[in-house]
Amino acid sequence: MNRSTFTIEYNVTTRDRLNPADAELMEKAIQAAGNAYAPYSKFRVGAAIRLKNGRILTGNNQENASFPAGICAERAVVFYAHANYPESTIRSIAVTASPCGVCRQVLLESEKRAGVPIRVLLANGNEVRIFNSVKDLLPFGFDSF
Ligand SMILES: [Zn+2]
Repeated sequence: MNRSTFTIEYNVTTRDRLNPADAELMEKAIQAAGNAYAPYSKFRVGAAIRLKNGRILTGNNQENASFPAGICAERAVVFYAHANYPESTIRSIAVTASPCGVCRQVLLESEKRAGVPIRVLLANGNEVRIFNSVKDLLPFGFDSF
């Protein structure tokens, strides 16, 4: 048996120190959170993605009394992007929370489809963590080895 380790590198900054493009994306995610439908969890989440064509799309969590029927902000916007802009890959995503495991898996496959890393910006209040690839969030995702 061999023991292995891996290290994840990411940047930590604050919202006011983001570059203009990242600041715009995070602001759109924050605005989108305001339109979330979260009467059960009371936890509003917003997500914004920037496509290769430069377009920014937003989504938010949409809950339902039948809990599994609801959807997270990340998947709402990612599936909208793939449905409406299949020719334009996702280059970055900003989220006002840390993605759940299901969303990480969906983002991982989006990254695989894109063929290039998707930058991920996660806000926790004023703090922002920036990852250069979805693989950093889900190093052993569901996929073939
Ligand atoms: Zn999720």
